[in-house]
Amino acid sequence: MKRVHNFSAGPATLPLEVLEKAQKELVEYKGKGQSLMEMSHRSAEYTEIDQQAKARLSSLLGLGDDFEVMFLQGGASSQFMMAPYNFLRENETADYIDTGRWSDKAITEAKKFGYVHVPYSSSEGNYDRVPKNGELKFSSNPVYVHFTSNNTVAGTQFPTEPETNGVPLVCDASSDFLSRPIDVDKYGIIYAGAQKNVGPAGVTIVIVRKDLLEKAKTEGVPTILRYKTHTGKIFNTPPTFNVYMVNLVLDWIEQKGGLSYFESFSQKKASLLYGEIDKDDFYRGAVEKESRSLMNATYRLPSEELEQKFLSEAAENGLVALKGHRSVGGIRASMYNAMPMESVEALVSFMQEFRDKNG
Ligand code: PMP
Repeated sequence: MKRVHNFSAGPATLPLEVLEKAQKELVEYKGKGQSLMEMSHRSAEYTEIDQQAKARLSSLLGLGDDFEVMFLQGGASSQFMMAPYNFLRENETADYIDTGRWSDKAITEAKKFGYVHVPYSSSEGNYDRVPKNGELKFSSNPVYVHFTSNNTVAGTQFPTEPETNGVPLVCDASSDFLSRPIDVDKYGIIYAGAQKNVGPAGVTIVIVRKDLLEKAKTEGVPTILRYKTHTGKIFNTPPTFNVYMVNLVLDWIEQKGGLSYFESFSQKKASLLYGEIDKDDFYRGAVEKESRSLMNATYRLPSEELEQKFLSEAAENGLVALKGHRSVGGIRASMYNAMPMESVEALVSFMQEFRDKNG
């Protein structure tokens, strides 16, 4: 089988080594005469996977003892609701930085629970940038500040955490989770769907600071939607196979050299691609240079016709899933941790040929 160069924004390409390991263990897990998918989520085998994956996350991110790690369902979209359900009371305000389609969806949900103040929005510029610290106009006493660290649709990324003067950050890290080291002390909650950087779709990683859990709402919050329900135990049947896959990806991340390795690897891939985009006016980056994402590069060609031609010829050359999100058009090349350098090199040489023929 020849694997394609898969630039999908998510579900996204996974490390081949991980797929092959899973394939080997698929039918029979560790000599038990059954697959992992057929085992109880209370079995010793699954308990080991759950514990290992949590320990790996904790060590990769440097969480120490201050955080609880949970494997939940419902996608990052459920966290748009669950975070305010647990932490935003009717008479309180949370600040939500609006840098894209997903931030906006998070805002819509949060408004159902309390007041939402938007300290900054780039919606009028079609979400073409993220704010600098001086542009953030926070409310006087927010319970938390929510931000989307990487904006998958527009192709922007916060170069570093927004400065909140000690107010805990709640972060939708879906599309750059584990792609670089972060300053965990600044975070109250980090959540991410697995399907971009850490595994297949179906499990959401949620990390919550322990001291905040003590202040969480309980009254009126359904049991399964309370974070506390999921700490220190497995409350109900988790997506066991997905957590198993996440654990394999975490092992792979560790073996490659952890988050610093992936930070510089992403920088190398992105600078190769953005270098090509910036060569002349044929390709045009879709967002402000300083806000560019290392994960999702978005760009335009001189006409929509040429963009269509680009996409179909790219696919003929094994370069797939490059179509920009339907709300913005153009081209989007997603380059998460598992995207090999060779795929970005193949894209860049295709771009050069395409420009030579059509420019
Ligand atoms: N947030 C971001 C930044 C995303 O990219 C996505 C999915 N593309 C979501 C949230 C929604 O995630 P899910 O489909 O897992 O609910």
